[in-house]
Amino acid sequence: MEAAAPAAGWRSPFGPGFPCVDVHVHLHPDGLARAIERWFARNGWINAHPFDPDAVADSLRARGVARFCFFSYAHRPGMARELNRWVAKTAARMPEAVGLATLHPDDPDLAAVAAEATGDLGLRGFKFHHSVQRFHVDDPRLWPVYERAEAAGHLFVLHVGTMPYRDEFTGVDRFRGVMARFPRLRVCVAHMGAFQSAEFLALLDRHPHLYVDTTMAMSPRARPYVGADPQAIPDAAIVRHQDRILFGSDFPLIPYDYDEERRWAWERTLDESVRRKIFRDNGLRFLDGG
Ligand SMILES: [Zn+2]
Repeated sequence: MEAAAPAAGWRSPFGPGFPCVDVHVHLHPDGLARAIERWFARNGWINAHPFDPDAVADSLRARGVARFCFFSYAHRPGMARELNRWVAKTAARMPEAVGLATLHPDDPDLAAVAAEATGDLGLRGFKFHHSVQRFHVDDPRLWPVYERAEAAGHLFVLHVGTMPYRDEFTGVDRFRGVMARFPRLRVCVAHMGAFQSAEFLALLDRHPHLYVDTTMAMSPRARPYVGADPQAIPDAAIVRHQDRILFGSDFPLIPYDYDEERRWAWERTLDESVRRKIFRDNGLRFLDGG
């Protein structure tokens, strides 16, 4: 599919007066970035944006993004430590960036890799992509990581919903069990928890530090690529959970213009105050604590 032209008929309100916070950005070391790009291209998904970290940061800055959270992932054991060092080095030269570490539970030195990530490397938490990394969110080898995270306030961004991968590694049931065991974990469930958004949203009332992000779940343009159904999330649900919804974009791995990930909120009947929470305030609270 072709990369789309910029969104027409909508003027982005973002800039110094309304800085945007994006909690879902992908940066990878060069070799891994190329491999991921090739995989997506083979699956009919032509990335519209360069993966080079400095180009990504420049594009986001130009789009009025004042803070963003980024991550890579270890799709096999033995690579997390090196990736985390790369994430830390990359984050260090971008003042607006918050880098999250990766882990692989098959690593025999899992505890040491996790401790290095949030200790010496100064990373704020972890991103897991359960389908790609092929482990369960409730893998007991992760209990010590969750336990330390709950005490220290580490962040998690978890792609644990079934969109677009319905497999044994995704779904709300195992995640619900993790939250029951670690109720104060600071988690952002990616993609609005789609295709089980209602079930994931229902957990927000019970857990004060649980969030969802809008990444590729709210834009009608994402549907051909991931099967998203934004209509499954009505305005009433957005208003009800307005303090726990974070803007995320999947940039730069989106096959259309960045603003396609943002304009949906202006095409719905939402108060400006709700938009400001989703695109700024909630993201700052998630990233900075509180
Ligand atoms: Zn993503």
